[in-house]
Amino acid sequence: MSETDGTEGKPTTIYLDHGATSWPKPPGVSDAVASALIRHGGNPDRGTYQMAVETARAVRSARGGIASLLGVSSAKDLVFQPGCTQAMNLVLAGLLSAGDRVVVGFSEHNAVARPLHRLAQRGVEVVAVSATPSGIVDVDEMEREVRRAPTRAVICQHTSNLSGAIQPVADLTDIAHENDAIMIVDGAQAGGHIPVDLSALGVDAWGCSGHKGLLGPQGIGVLYLREGCEPDELVVGGTGAGMSEEPLQPKVRPERYEAGTMNTPGILGLGAAAHWLAEHGSAQRGLEEALTRRLHEGILGIDGFTVLGPKPGEPRVPIISAVHESEDTGRIAFLLDRQYGIACRAGLHCAPWAHRAFGTLKSGALRFGIGYGNTSEDIDCTLDALRRIVGGLE
Ligand code: PMP
Repeated sequence: MSETDGTEGKPTTIYLDHGATSWPKPPGVSDAVASALIRHGGNPDRGTYQMAVETARAVRSARGGIASLLGVSSAKDLVFQPGCTQAMNLVLAGLLSAGDRVVVGFSEHNAVARPLHRLAQRGVEVVAVSATPSGIVDVDEMEREVRRAPTRAVICQHTSNLSGAIQPVADLTDIAHENDAIMIVDGAQAGGHIPVDLSALGVDAWGCSGHKGLLGPQGIGVLYLREGCEPDELVVGGTGAGMSEEPLQPKVRPERYEAGTMNTPGILGLGAAAHWLAEHGSAQRGLEEALTRRLHEGILGIDGFTVLGPKPGEPRVPIISAVHESEDTGRIAFLLDRQYGIACRAGLHCAPWAHRAFGTLKSGALRFGIGYGNTSEDIDCTLDALRRIVGGLE
């Protein structure tokens, strides 16, 4: 069995990589994806024939359902994007320019860190603030930094894809607004895993992948833009509205930010997932919380492991990242997969800033992401396997 050959070993029977992408999907999602290929043909908001009109109606209904799940009162303020990466690129490139100053959380994912780095090379000043030991952004330091000099934007992830910590987004939004800055949030790991009410939160821009906690397919995500928050478009081109002789992108939402043929299968799949979450999300979150705590406490009970971020019982999304004092986390993940059929992820999880803050840049961490479909048996089997691996019994 080799570490580079993905074909050998026990097949995956326990999926604990929901932090990367959720699998399986709840009832209704794959049917909705298929319906876009079977029934909902045509190009939504382009043709006026019945099938295209019906497909446009299905897209509108999906947008409405997702908006209502996320507390967005006007669905046009929720635009479809290929994912959170694209949503963050749109907002950052579309709102910031040379001479702007931004204050950013210490643990941003590369979906934010890399666009910011590029903007820094083009003259945007980027100031990063540090964290408490639980992996929560230091609110006082954030406030001091925002007050220190005119600041265009405060940027922070909603929840961490490494530690699972839930960031104080409401407090940070107040700080931003009191200082005439806009609040930009990477919600990739929050949607579906915690209740999100964007109107109440008051943020200016919030992006989210559709395929993680929102339980939709890959290749679709959403970006919420509060009315009045008007980034330049990242992509311009054909839209279903605002046709004119001049080659100008229409300013009307959502079309302004949705140039090109829409991802109808992805949108309808995400719409079905939002429908499921509206009904079952609260029970699902309760289950995730219980399983996460079971795994967290179980891992802490195995000699040599530490878990990054909040302590058991403190608020977190269903992510547990652990390091071991002597065992390499890459080897543990490999053995979990090949010997036990347990899928999880070792490495840096596209979050080198966060690993630097936790002092785990060299070792990486073993990350378990819990979600739809997981059971307490999954957790107990994983704990047994970990005990055997670090006890040298594998
Ligand atoms: N931000 C965070 C915190 C993430 O965990 C991820 C996904 N790993 C992203 C952004 C990017 O999401 P996507 O790959 O769906 O664009």
